[in-house]
Amino acid sequence: MNNSTFPQLMAPLDLGFTTLRNRVIMGSMHTGLEDRFYNYGKLAAYFRERARGGVGLIVTGGISPNRRGWLLPFGGTLNWLGDVWNHRRLTSAVHQEGGKILMQILHAGRYGYQPFVVSASNIKSPISPFKPRALTERGIERTILDYVRCAKLAKRAGYDGIEIMGSEGYLLNQFLCARTNLRQDRWGGAIENRMRLAVEIVRRIRAALGLDFIIMYRHSLLDLVDGGNSWDEVVTVARALEQAGVTILSTGYGWHEARVPTIVTSVPRAAFSSVAGRLRQAVSIPVVASNRINTPQQAERILADGDADLVSMARPFLADPEFVVKAASGRSDEINTCIACNQACLDHTFANRRASCLVNPRAAHETELVYRKTARRQRVAVVGAGPAGLSAASVAAECGHEVSLFDASDRIGGQFKIAMQIPGKEEFAETLRYFARRLELAKVQLELGQRVTRAQLLARGFDHVIVATGIVPRAPRIPGIEHPKVLSYLDVLQRKAQVGRRVAIIGAGGIGFDVGEYLLHNPKLTLPEPLEHWLADWGVDLAGSGNGGLVAPIPAQPVRQIYLLQRKSSKVGAGLGKTSGWVHRATLQRKGVEMLAGVEYHQIDDQGLHITLNGQPRLLEVDHVVICAGQDSLAELMPAEHDKSARGPRFHVIGGAKLAAELDAKRAIREGALLAAAL
Ligand code: FAD
Ligand code: NAP
Ligand code: SF4
Repeated sequence: MNNSTFPQLMAPLDLGFTTLRNRVIMGSMHTGLEDRFYNYGKLAAYFRERARGGVGLIVTGGISPNRRGWLLPFGGTLNWLGDVWNHRRLTSAVHQEGGKILMQILHAGRYGYQPFVVSASNIKSPISPFKPRALTERGIERTILDYVRCAKLAKRAGYDGIEIMGSEGYLLNQFLCARTNLRQDRWGGAIENRMRLAVEIVRRIRAALGLDFIIMYRHSLLDLVDGGNSWDEVVTVARALEQAGVTILSTGYGWHEARVPTIVTSVPRAAFSSVAGRLRQAVSIPVVASNRINTPQQAERILADGDADLVSMARPFLADPEFVVKAASGRSDEINTCIACNQACLDHTFANRRASCLVNPRAAHETELVYRKTARRQRVAVVGAGPAGLSAASVAAECGHEVSLFDASDRIGGQFKIAMQIPGKEEFAETLRYFARRLELAKVQLELGQRVTRAQLLARGFDHVIVATGIVPRAPRIPGIEHPKVLSYLDVLQRKAQVGRRVAIIGAGGIGFDVGEYLLHNPKLTLPEPLEHWLADWGVDLAGSGNGGLVAPIPAQPVRQIYLLQRKSSKVGAGLGKTSGWVHRATLQRKGVEMLAGVEYHQIDDQGLHITLNGQPRLLEVDHVVICAGQDSLAELMPAEHDKSARGPRFHVIGGAKLAAELDAKRAIREGALLAAAL
């Protein structure tokens, strides 16, 4: 595969004993399927689709070399011959499609969510309730042997190599950093001692398995935690790993406990690739760039700039298994781009649920959600071109139905058009670009700019009507709600109402937080160097000075004074995404937003918003009150129950129109796809 648009990305890489067909790696992701062998058929189908889509090298989710290394109780482990057969299903699926696959060996150390956890020292991590036991010298030796046995079994299972997980704060990273390694024996102290475990594991695996086996090592270039390694130490470790027999150095940024985001949407694209570039100057083996790389253009630029030899993208392969083949054949505009929301992948993983993808509900469900060609072409109307309607219309048309998609607006997108205006959610525009192209390819007839009525639909003789008309914002009953200083979130985000310097936001759900970020954003500060501002805001030095890259943040001055309010007494923002909510909370806190829980609303008048907080009356003297108090379904096109049996089209309802409570785009897109696939 080679093309002129992405010549560097599509160039093969000769490793001496084997050749990768291009420079694209699908990085390791825990889907949840790898933990149970009865799911390996599904896992094989998932990998097969990605290998068929052209990716050069796939890395599996983390597999532990022993029980103490489990991330979760009974997590995926490879420690005896009987398991090899199951893994062969994965390797042969990938090899049949011309791809290559590495098994990631991951020992969680103190990050394990189970009682057998071990580490360099007995220091509890802030993200697991279990305090680790410090490994004894014998325990360390046993751990090395377990890694070697695991690698040997991986080779027997047909893997082209292994990736050793040495970053993100897992066991080997715990040995590498003084933060978690207080040992005074030959495994602790100076960096030469702290790196001994990682180096010894590589050396012994290389000795046991010979030269024709890929050993990729994921090395932490910026720990982004206090007590992280200096850049000199990072380079010392990298060179020692190269000496010990590593074939490729992949890179990682930030421990899981770090308070700097490294992969959510608001992290600028390819924020860390220059760090990989610096490492590349210091070693002579191939180096991999990673983190927030989600387009072939970005990946090509990284390679062309000399920052890496390969590019690893993980979540982009959940979003689109055909990423590589589309890029290579001049169809980049057809790529379903990962928007870095974490909502269906990492948030699921941390909730111990199977991972999938917000923009591609088939991810990790390839054998269950199948879009088959229909034998009976039917006429389908989809009303509402928000995420639910876009998904339903494209799947129905791809299955062979004749589809008309209606929207009152003159552009597709529904609420996603509003969401993409939030600073840090610009990626959402990619989803609308993708759907627009998909509708075009599937020949969906678009009828925009008119509000459809039931009579119009009945007159057109459709077989099915899919109601995907979304929601209406809820207007709470608060005295003074008609006051001119009251705005809805649509007034602010869609109609661009002028907003004063002091603002109260009623409702602290996802939209309340987003409106807060929107109102605090100063566009003058992000152009022309968004990365510089992001680094200053979060206190990151890409040169690796300070503590593992951490320096004092220089937050921008807030442009407004904001109160974010809710009636519940729980923590404000508790309902936000597991892996992204803390980023939103930290962003608003840094900008001085006062978050108030347990509020009672009394009156809005010329003075401002009158509330009671902890039994005490309080006046918030604000210029505007923005209402973000949730939403109600809009499903007026649905026939009443008694009309449903009458002749005419079959009506279906999906997305916000079906249920507004806890609605998000993940549910909307999934419901659209499931319904359309079943028509
Ligand atoms: P909608 O997106 O509301 O679309 C309904 C469509 O129907 C509209 O385009 C409307 O014009 C059309 N319509 C209605 N009636 C008619 C009619 N009679 N005739 C023709 N057309 C009609 N979700 C997430 O998952 N993650 C996020 O980070 C996120 N951030 C958000 C940020 C903001 C600021 C907002 C506002 C929403 C955000 N959401 C987010 C929510 C997400 O956008 C919604 O859950 C999703 O859009 C719901 O999809 P839907 O298709 O059901 O409805
Ligand atoms: P939401 O998450 O349900 O939050 C609504 C807020 O309004 C809550 O804080 C609620 O808190 C308050 N509220 C509800 N009824 C009220 C009333 N009658 N009077 C005053 N306050 C009231 O809804 P949303 O923020 O509108 O978001 C809509 C959906 O979009 C969400 O379900 C969310 O999943 C999705 N979304 C997701 C993201 C994301 O980043 N993942 C971002 C934006 C939106 P109290 O009841 O305690 O006052
Ligand atoms: Fe990317 Fe969101 Fe899909 Fe995860 S769920 S792969 S972050 S688009």
